[in-house]
Amino acid sequence: MSGVQHHLPADLLLSFASGTGDVGGDLLVATHLTLCPRCRDEVAHLEALGGALLDEIDGEAIARDPHRAPVEHSRLTFDGPVKRRDANDEHVGEAAEIQDDGVLPRALLSLVGPVADITWTSGAFGQVHYLELPIEHAHAPLRLVRFKQGMRIPTHSHAAQEIVVYLTGAATDLDHGIKYQRGDVSTYGPGQSHQLAVEQGEDCITLIANMRLVGKTLMSRLVFRLLGWC
Ligand SMILES: [Zn+2]
Repeated sequence: MSGVQHHLPADLLLSFASGTGDVGGDLLVATHLTLCPRCRDEVAHLEALGGALLDEIDGEAIARDPHRAPVEHSRLTFDGPVKRRDANDEHVGEAAEIQDDGVLPRALLSLVGPVADITWTSGAFGQVHYLELPIEHAHAPLRLVRFKQGMRIPTHSHAAQEIVVYLTGAATDLDHGIKYQRGDVSTYGPGQSHQLAVEQGEDCITLIANMRLVGKTLMSRLVFRLLGWC
């Protein structure tokens, strides 16, 4: 049974299901879908609904103009390079060659390789490690970020909507009493402030879009600036 409690924003699911999302957004969705049966069902439902609507539109268009080319359906088939491979294991394609590392969903694994082989960039005096990915969501690069177990991320807000998918470990939003763990998604809009405590036990690896933090104090602003987080 999935323990996922916190899900993707509906607009990201819609973009994925309709084939209108950007590559980074699709990677966020594919990563979460791998770990969340509820959102997989939701996307399957949207896919079926979209297919039926397109069929209807096709039918009406052809009835009006028999020479008109049918509407292209391929955007609803989820065959893109990073889409839903783990959500539907029989369609893993070339990613079937990649050895499952038990941590990264296949869409991520095919992009960065096994987590044990990642060359992390170290920051925050060894408290945080990250890997910038060569893809973007909403014009900001995605990053894999590994937070050291037990660390605190001081009170901050965000310059733009931040979306985080948790892959290992856990972290608690101390201001709202929300715990995030494997498969969960946190979404914070611009200006929404909070502080996080990473739990003991194991490092917390996350996939993050738009990690542009705004520190509340001069010191945290300085730290975030030094880390390239703003
Ligand atoms: Zn979900």
